[in-house]
Amino acid sequence: MRYLIISDIHGNLDALEACLADALGLYDQILCLGDLVGYGADPNAVVDWCRANANFVIRGNHDKAVAGIGETEDFNDQAASSVTWTTSQLSPENLSYLRALPAGPVRVNGFTAVHGSPSDEDEYILSGVDAMRAFTWHSGTLTFFGHTHVQGGFLWKSRYAHPISPLRPNQDARDFPLQPDTAYLINPGSIGQPRDHDPRAAYALYDSDQKLLTYRRVEYDVAKAQRRILASGLPEKLALRLSRGL
Ligand code: ZN
Repeated sequence: MRYLIISDIHGNLDALEACLADALGLYDQILCLGDLVGYGADPNAVVDWCRANANFVIRGNHDKAVAGIGETEDFNDQAASSVTWTTSQLSPENLSYLRALPAGPVRVNGFTAVHGSPSDEDEYILSGVDAMRAFTWHSGTLTFFGHTHVQGGFLWKSRYAHPISPLRPNQDARDFPLQPDTAYLINPGSIGQPRDHDPRAAYALYDSDQKLLTYRRVEYDVAKAQRRILASGLPEKLALRLSRGL
């Protein structure tokens, strides 16, 4: 089975459409790792699309906040105001859909999907130390995660003295055949608000028969997404950061 792995769309329809066009014909099923909404100007269109097309979807912290689940006190001012705005925009059906989304970890065809980390859906896996904790907590060999908006991940070769290595895709290395005796934490990156200094939308493909992981980046009309954010009355900073990939 060939999977399209997407995360952190954040209401950015322009970025989502560019990724779907880029991935056309390259996948059989769609896995979304959460944060469908928040920050971006098109939450209804993105949720409509997920409802109609995604085979597996788990919730992110923004989906929870918008749906009135959990705390938002760790949200900064822009995130909090985008939660309020997004809640006011979403149709009752889309709000109900977000409220009913399952929390990770969810098992899919031999791998695991989480938003933050396997032990806590709101936790960020940013460093090797974070990854070590996640690997030891979770015995699965392949886990997809999001939340950090950083494309890449970590691999763990448990027999080695220094078992954790970062996985950093770049222009020359986008395809990673998964090795036996190695565990993987894989982040496809963010569709709608990348934070790894590359403004292009990010996603991943995973072929479970070939055991092949492919990272991809796609240019999209950032200016259009920015204009939509500004026209909607969302904070200007949410538009500005898109062109810097931060
Ligand atoms: Zn996010």
